[in-house]
Amino acid sequence: MNFVFICPETNAIFATEDFSLAENHGVQTDHNGGKVLHATVVLNSPCPYCRKIHRYRAKDLACPFHANSGASIQLADHD
Ligand SMILES: [Zn+2]
Repeated sequence: MNFVFICPETNAIFATEDFSLAENHGVQTDHNGGKVLHATVVLNSPCPYCRKIHRYRAKDLACPFHANSGASIQLADHD
């Protein structure tokens, strides 16, 4: 499953499925009642633009995605 990431160095957008979920603390409910996945997503291969291994907070990746009911990673259903 390809996910879309934004390079924080160049603001370029790229898609990859070569990433790992790290520091997974599960889904928690925030103070607004929204569900947020508290985890860190780490690229397994370098960013195609700046060649760095970026890390992202899973909740920061929520906006571009609308998780399907069948998705193995449900990032958020809020925001
Ligand atoms: Zn980058």
